[in-house]
Amino acid sequence: MLQTSHQARLQESPPDTPQEQPEETAAEWAQRLASASPHAIIEAAARALPGRLAVVSSFGAESAVLLKFVADVDSSLPILFLDTLWLFKETLAYRDLLVAHLGLTNVRTITPSPSALANRDPRRDLCFLDQDACCSLRKVAPLARELAPFAGWISGRKRYQGGGRAGIPIVEADGRRLKFNPLAALTATELNEVFASANLPRHPLEAAGYRSIGCIPCTSRALGAAAGRDGRWSGLVKTECGIHTRALSAAAPEA
Ligand code: SF4
Repeated sequence: MLQTSHQARLQESPPDTPQEQPEETAAEWAQRLASASPHAIIEAAARALPGRLAVVSSFGAESAVLLKFVADVDSSLPILFLDTLWLFKETLAYRDLLVAHLGLTNVRTITPSPSALANRDPRRDLCFLDQDACCSLRKVAPLARELAPFAGWISGRKRYQGGGRAGIPIVEADGRRLKFNPLAALTATELNEVFASANLPRHPLEAAGYRSIGCIPCTSRALGAAAGRDGRWSGLVKTECGIHTRALSAAAPEA
């Protein structure tokens, strides 16, 4: 049964913030938090990195669960929301709905650099020509910029989403930062239990058949018993935008 209260606390103090050996420190964290609840993982991260921890959320189909857990622990934690300027209007409305529903007080909407857009995507057609370049311009570089002051961040990825996410640890190194994955071990059934028990609103596009919701040009309705992220970059081998596939500190700067 999923633990949805934050009673469980770590018995030991968490390791220090990584500076010189982030991989080793992340592995130590992951081992210590291996059986911790999502709440306990978020609490441990917030305690260890006060003022230097951010949450990254797409406000997509499954985002409400992580955001609910974060709100339970500290509704003032910075939450970074990447608006690529290609999002569905329903996602922007859902962001506003969840902010009000959960009482989140520090949601920061990040947009790509206007000068970088003018230089590299002046006709707004890069998403049809080179999706990796478009994701780099509209997602990776802006997030790298906004995460610069933080020593750690929290993502909502789950192992059941498959692909490169099937083996994600609870904690991993992102360059010199720590990245926490408090929902890594959650099952799809447990996620739906949280939606029901907490009476969380669903993304409005779910009812229209969307399972994983990102940018308009790169999101399609999932067919049949699709896997968790089917419907993204349909017809391409691409499965990730890039914010999780390499250290953000190594991302090319905006131009
Ligand atoms: S998901 Fe598509 S539209 Fe969005 S940034 Fe990536 S390539 Fe561009």
